[in-house]
Amino acid sequence: MDVVILLGAPGSGKGTVCTRVAEAVGYRHLSTGDRLREAVKAGTAVGREARPYIERGDLVPDEVMIRIVAEAMTSEAPELRRFILDGFPRTDAQALLLQQRLRDEGGRICAVILLEAPRDVLIERLAGRRVCRDCGATYHVVNIPPKHEGQCDACGGELVQRPDDNEATVRNRLEVYERQTASLIEFYERAGGLRRVDSARPLDVMVSEIRDLIVAGVS
Ligand SMILES: [Zn+2]
Repeated sequence: MDVVILLGAPGSGKGTVCTRVAEAVGYRHLSTGDRLREAVKAGTAVGREARPYIERGDLVPDEVMIRIVAEAMTSEAPELRRFILDGFPRTDAQALLLQQRLRDEGGRICAVILLEAPRDVLIERLAGRRVCRDCGATYHVVNIPPKHEGQCDACGGELVQRPDDNEATVRNRLEVYERQTASLIEFYERAGGLRRVDSARPLDVMVSEIRDLIVAGVS
């Protein structure tokens, strides 16, 4: 079992990068947020345990999250157990749990990649996001502008900013992320092998750099 961990702030493009890198190296993109929602929806044992926390808006406990991750991993055929983890671990306590689990399963972490961008870049990306009120298509005032200002190309619906994306909230989200991940980053720095990738560059450049890092880590 080979595992790549990809860390990145809101606005770093982590989800898209994970999908593209997974395709490029033939790994499974394992988004723990998605798996958690699926488990809750399907009503599996671990999903039923997680449900009350989600309904209260609380964080799902680490022991539940590691089971979600482990079940997703072991549900694949052994020869397909190569994963890019997106959204886990978020804390050093979760990182320890993951390490133990991988040791038990005979797995290993081949790379830990941190997508980095200056805070100003992240703020601009997040605060510039616009969403179609009708169909949910996303735009960006600078990077992906609609043909007509304030109007969805696909359906003509009104483009709005999510309350989460206003600048004050964005600053706060980034501060929370930084506080939460500081010790996690230290954890992987101490363990050796944390690679920093500049995520202020075009997607294709980032994807090929990360692919090279993973290939080097596996061999
Ligand atoms: Zn639309």
